[in-house]
Amino acid sequence: MQKVTVIGAGTMGNGIAHVFAMHGYQVSLVDVAQAALDKGMVAIEKNLGRMVAKEKVTEMEMKAALARIKTFTSLAEGVREAELVVEAATENVGLKLKIFEEMDAHAPQGAILASNTSSISITRIAAATKRPGQVIGMHFMNPVPVMKLVEVIRGYSTTDEVAAIIMNLSSRLGKAPVEVNDYPGFISNRILMPMINEAIYSLFEGVAGVEEIDTVMKLGMAHPMGPLQLADFIGLDVCLSILNVLSEGFGNPKYAPCPLLVNMVMAGKLGAKAGEGFYTYKHGSKELVVAEVFRR
Ligand code: NAD
Repeated sequence: MQKVTVIGAGTMGNGIAHVFAMHGYQVSLVDVAQAALDKGMVAIEKNLGRMVAKEKVTEMEMKAALARIKTFTSLAEGVREAELVVEAATENVGLKLKIFEEMDAHAPQGAILASNTSSISITRIAAATKRPGQVIGMHFMNPVPVMKLVEVIRGYSTTDEVAAIIMNLSSRLGKAPVEVNDYPGFISNRILMPMINEAIYSLFEGVAGVEEIDTVMKLGMAHPMGPLQLADFIGLDVCLSILNVLSEGFGNPKYAPCPLLVNMVMAGKLGAKAGEGFYTYKHGSKELVVAEVFRR
């Protein structure tokens, strides 16, 4: 396999393109607007530049990797020669079904179609194509160039051969792939999100404050980041949406999102990207300051 297309040049898409290009693959990066592609390419260059500064990558390797990435605003053109397509567009069911229909119509018949979705059923996405056996989940973690795990999700119809190809390919990218079956939240979010939800419930019920909850999990359980800080980093809207997927998917009230999380999302306090969640985030400052409302 040599030719890989990545759909979406956002946070995850540009990281995925970065990793494939660094491992010698020809990458076609597709997004709806040229501005999104330009922004994605700037991010890749910046992240590779950081690796050059740390002497993990040479200047020549960086230039060669950048030269292997071509950008497209047309999905049909971008997937025309692909052997593998990794979709990392916005997390929206309707959008993903449409993208997979289009990928199916324009990518070569033998191409494998993968999705980086965090919460949408691979089986459902696969059913939008005429090649459900060749559809699979390739769930990279953020930031993609740094994080080792790839959760490889087998849909109901994914063939053994396709699963084996993607497991091998992920290893060749220097990642540690783990194979899981397609049920709500897969493994990563099925375990992570209830923990985050429980941390929010503990705050909501006044059991402890923001810093106390995060400190217990950092120092007591050796987590590199407390669950509330992690929720801020992921985005509280994203956490809420995944909890809703778990809640609806299993029909079990144990996954119901904490009312405080729902309120914070309604108030626009979405975490780091919004400047405030459980903590505040000032541009350029690395200091972790608990949000005013949780200090009262
Ligand atoms: P993002 O908003 O940063 O990027 C999404 C990109 O998709 C944008 O550049 C947007 O212009 C583009 N896009 C939208 N519609 C498109 C279309 N029709 N064709 C091509 N491009 C299109 O989002 P993200 O955080 O990179 O998330 C992408 C996917 O990765 C989602 O499915 C998300 O669930 C998953 N994911 C995200 C994270 C994370 O931490 N951010 C982690 C794992 C998985």
